[in-house]
Amino acid sequence: MTTICPFCIQIKAIPSSIPDLVWEFPNSVAVLGRWQFYQGYCVLISREHAHEPIDLPALSRDGMMSEVWWLSKAIALAFKPRKLNYELLGNQVEHPHWHLFPRQISDNEHLKPAWVRIDREENNAPLRSILEGKPSERASTIASIVTILQELGAPKA
Ligand SMILES: [Zn+2]
Repeated sequence: MTTICPFCIQIKAIPSSIPDLVWEFPNSVAVLGRWQFYQGYCVLISREHAHEPIDLPALSRDGMMSEVWWLSKAIALAFKPRKLNYELLGNQVEHPHWHLFPRQISDNEHLKPAWVRIDREENNAPLRSILEGKPSERASTIASIVTILQELGAPKA
């Protein structure tokens, strides 16, 4: 049985129909994440499928790690978080992808993983809408990150 990987489908859809595309790096693609309570939260998706990041060819792996740095730097400069959280889990989607969460001091749970609050509140519509942030702000959040990536001279595919 062939498993359909949602990230492979998204990567194939570039550039026409990937929602909330932030930046196309040579080895990965950055998209704005769903939970914009953490303004600037992005998901960086490998262009190559693998069960584990350790299964990626060395050039893809090393390139993607550099792209984690570029994207993290831009998020940090744009939103000045107290701390950036870097997470690579793959429990739900087995395709290498990093979650980059800027954590602000105003978040009273900033010492815990963001997933604690998301898991607790995503099935409660009013709380979920707070976590998702205002849809009208997504474009300006993307623009802030893109502007800094351009200023830094980040690599582009
Ligand atoms: Zn995949």
